[in-house]
Amino acid sequence: MARTRIVYLLHFDPPYRAPIGDTGRFKTAGHYLGSTAGSAQQRLAEHVAGQGSPLVKAAVAAGSRILLAGIWPGGRADERKMKRSHHHARRCLYCRGELDLSEEIPV
Ligand SMILES: [Zn+2]
Repeated sequence: MARTRIVYLLHFDPPYRAPIGDTGRFKTAGHYLGSTAGSAQQRLAEHVAGQGSPLVKAAVAAGSRILLAGIWPGGRADERKMKRSHHHARRCLYCRGELDLSEEIPV
């Protein structure tokens, strides 16, 4: 049986300040959107262990806590579409105030 693919959103607490090359400037990353054929919890554990996106790895190294902030059914096309919209905070359960930072997403 094929596994259903999901799109998931990660919230960085605090947001990660990423240096832009050697310009001395920074861009702030507060979220990461990805998709997986497995469980979001499993993927989060891989990210935190440094086996996912370099951005999440860098945020963990900088001391950010990584929280699962949203899960939707969808594949890579949905992931790309959601990434382009750049409205991660609007989808984020923490930024929307639906979850407190001490709470974890109910699964
Ligand atoms: Zn958020």
